[in-house]
Amino acid sequence: MKVEQTLLEHGVNPTPQRMEVGMVLLSRPRHMSADQILTTLRETGNRISKATVYNTLNLFSRRGVVREVAIDPTRLVYDSTLHPHHHFYNTDTNELTDFDSPDLPISGLPKLPEGMTLESVDLIIRIRSDR
Ligand SMILES: [Zn+2]
Repeated sequence: MKVEQTLLEHGVNPTPQRMEVGMVLLSRPRHMSADQILTTLRETGNRISKATVYNTLNLFSRRGVVREVAIDPTRLVYDSTLHPHHHFYNTDTNELTDFDSPDLPISGLPKLPEGMTLESVDLIIRIRSDR
C-alpha cells in the first residue's frame, strides 16, 4: 500500500492511527489544516483524538512526509506535495493552490549572509476576486 510505503520511506512506523491520518492527507495532492483532517476522520466514524492528529502531523512534518505551509501565524496547513512549488492563497475562499517554481524565476534576492547557502524560497501570493 502506497501510504504505508511512504511512511516507511521516511522512517515513520505505520501504526493504525498514523495510517488513518496518512490516508486522508496523502491519498492525493492536497492542503489541509489539522482541524480539517480531524473533521474528515470524525465524519467517517473515526474516534481518533485531536492530540493524536496533531502529534501525528508534527511527526510527519519533522520526517518530511508532508510540508508545512504557514499562511499566517494562526493558519497552518499540511501539504502532501513535496516537490518545490509556490502557492496562491485566495483570501475570499481560504483556498490554497499550487504553482510550479519554474513559472516564477526569482531574481534580485538579497546577498546572503557570509557562509550561508540558499535552501529554498517559498512564496504565498495572496489573491482575491476583483470586485
Ligand atoms: Zn502546495
